[in-house]
Amino acid sequence: MPEELEESLQSLINRAVVYSDPGISLETAVIDLPVPQPADGEVLVRLYYSGVCHTDVPFCLNALPGLRVPTPKGQIGGHEGVGVVVAHGPGVTSPLIGSRVGIKYAADACLTCDNCIEDAEASCLNIKVSGYFTPGTFQQYCIATARYVTPIPDNLDLAAAAPLMCGGVTIYTALRKAGLRPGDCVAVFGAGGGLGHLRIQYAKAMGGRVIALDVGSKKDFCLSQAADEFIDITQFGVNEDLATKVKSLSNGGVRISLQCTSSSRAYAQAFSSLCFRGTLVCIGVPQNPVSFAPNIAAIVGQELRIISAKTGNRVDVKECLNLAARGFIKCHYQIRKMSELTNVFKEMQAGLIEGRAILDLDGM
Ligand SMILES: [Zn+2]
Ligand SMILES: [Zn+2]
Repeated sequence: MPEELEESLQSLINRAVVYSDPGISLETAVIDLPVPQPADGEVLVRLYYSGVCHTDVPFCLNALPGLRVPTPKGQIGGHEGVGVVVAHGPGVTSPLIGSRVGIKYAADACLTCDNCIEDAEASCLNIKVSGYFTPGTFQQYCIATARYVTPIPDNLDLAAAAPLMCGGVTIYTALRKAGLRPGDCVAVFGAGGGLGHLRIQYAKAMGGRVIALDVGSKKDFCLSQAADEFIDITQFGVNEDLATKVKSLSNGGVRISLQCTSSSRAYAQAFSSLCFRGTLVCIGVPQNPVSFAPNIAAIVGQELRIISAKTGNRVDVKECLNLAARGFIKCHYQIRKMSELTNVFKEMQAGLIEGRAILDLDGM
């Protein structure tokens, strides 16, 4: 980094939101830190927005199943950051200064381990998870690995790109891995939730015919997102078979069931709604264990699949952003202040956030 640039960055402050008591409470604090210096292979990114993902809450509470170590006290959370490259570490030449880039769940992946070779970078055996044990995107200046930042298309609004870095790419990847083909029927269980609009929009953009399922109050919203059909799940009692209704609307069953709720009953219904060679995609991670015993005879007889999608790799996020840049995806979001993060977490836990909450990293 040129000396003049280094000096000018040192004169700046880096405002960040940190977890005050991870594992104990959702308390956060806005503090001023020095601007970090990029090392070999790194860039410094001036972040302008960061989406707040549902996974940030269990990171703050140390409540995510399989966490290797507790989230450190004073950690900066977040993994849906977007901004501009402002400095290079020694030897780095790309992406160019001024490039718009994003930072996602995997802040870095080694690209050489067995999981990376299988394109599963988010499960890299040497992963750096943004906002967990690597300082994340709830800060103005973030260090990132130069070869792993995500380029953001020019004609995509920067704030609208933030929720796609995890929420959007996870949905895109789920549909891609499920093998969605044009004309396939997709049942979206939990279509009226915070990111339900992205689930419907990506399924439509990729050529699917969407049956949205949620409580009746979400009907107008789901249809406004161009869902082809809506089913009010509350209209089906214990003895009534929701799957029969799905099958009647889909000529015998859906090719893909996107299961976004944590209900074991909904898991069973999503599974029972599949057609021959249908795929159940598990997306939401329930806080409590879900008991769901799939019918093995049905799996064998109908050649069904049950898969998951944690999040996407570099190709997935590129394709996901390109669909948005071409105008197929209109992300719903609300801009919030950095000082509001704890309230945002609480509102997310209570299911009160419509669309994605995005922190404006310019203010308090
Ligand atoms: Zn996330
Ligand atoms: Zn790896």
